[in-house]
Amino acid sequence: MTQAITGKSIRKPSPPWTSADVRTDFPILTSTDRPVAYLDNAATSQKPDAVIAATARYYKSMNANIHRGVYRLSVEATEAYESARAKIAAFIGAPHPREVIFTRGCTEAINLVAMTWGLQNLKAGSTIVLTQMEHHSNIVPWQMVAARTGARIVVTPVSPQGELDLAAYERLVADGAALVAVTHISNVLGTINPVAELAQIAHRHGALILLDGAQSVAHMPVNIAELGCDFFAFSGHKMCGPTGIGALWARGDLLDAMPPYQGGGDMISTVSFEGSTWNIVPHKFEAGTPDIAGAIGLSAAVDYLSRLEMARIAAVEADLLASAEKALRTIPGLRIIGEARQKASVISFLLDGIHPHDIGTILDQEHVAVRTGHHCCQPLMDYYHIPATARASLAFYNTPADIDALVSGLHRVIEVFR
Ligand code: PMP
Repeated sequence: MTQAITGKSIRKPSPPWTSADVRTDFPILTSTDRPVAYLDNAATSQKPDAVIAATARYYKSMNANIHRGVYRLSVEATEAYESARAKIAAFIGAPHPREVIFTRGCTEAINLVAMTWGLQNLKAGSTIVLTQMEHHSNIVPWQMVAARTGARIVVTPVSPQGELDLAAYERLVADGAALVAVTHISNVLGTINPVAELAQIAHRHGALILLDGAQSVAHMPVNIAELGCDFFAFSGHKMCGPTGIGALWARGDLLDAMPPYQGGGDMISTVSFEGSTWNIVPHKFEAGTPDIAGAIGLSAAVDYLSRLEMARIAAVEADLLASAEKALRTIPGLRIIGEARQKASVISFLLDGIHPHDIGTILDQEHVAVRTGHHCCQPLMDYYHIPATARASLAFYNTPADIDALVSGLHRVIEVFR
């Protein structure tokens, strides 16, 4: 038994634990009035009791603004917020907590880099290398910066299986790229990109590399130092934490040199009408009152995931993925989009002659929650010449029963539409 931030003792399931062992930690999954096979984990994960309780405990017993008060509550809230930063830094293998900047999520983390490092360092003729499989949040901020600086965007192609063309990538980077921005795991294809290799190639040619870790931090062990990236962006809500909180990790020397992102309280050292000076990192990038409860909830999520161990989570999800893909391949007319050799637990698929939205609607009637649409990856849909896919994305708390529900739901879809 270990003592959690919630103050409540939390069961550490004995290894090797199964999905069924941990599912009961998630109240929404065990609710009997609204049973659901929740298969939209790439959009957001469910929250364990420990995270819900930690957030509530902050509001019930510690609520005060941080960094400003000399009184006990404020000091406690500040300590909890800053220890959340340290915990998150350790979880991703960051060399120092000050290199972790709290943001609203992955999207804001990427925008922060684009609007600070990007506007400061990119100029007419600079090249930003993206990939065909990027989420809109790792495309649009760069387009906005490109429009303001005259930088150009080039795109690494993918193969029909959903793997990056590494030779083409190297050619694009070698052509004088300033920055590479690439997703660690594709939210549509499930492809786990060889990001350590991408980072080495980027650095060999003098480019920096930003990794979009939205889909990786919750599904595999992530160690920034081993990946060798310069920026790493992720969201708390996809890793069992609350919505509205996420983080940017960046190399300390880059953060020191970057201008502030937003102006306001806490990010300054001095203010006068003649001009202002900036606080030290990380505070320089955290203007205004942050999501204190969110950071504390995310810290509890990190505790929770760490107790389960990320390597075990990855192994459990790999088994689930293999059995889900095997079962889906028995369904007539079903085509999986994304068959990379290194794949995380995301399965995009099409059913011959049936629109993905119809698939999603009928599955919902069968109490199966999947995502349908372009998944914020329109350029990837264009590459496959499709408007949308249905997507089942698994987490460690999904059980074989959830996969059975998906498969029988899809048979129902076929009955209705064929
Ligand atoms: N990148 C990827 C690969 C994603 O899957 C997502 C969320 N779907 C994001 C970025 C954006 O994350 P958020 O909306 O939490 O900022």
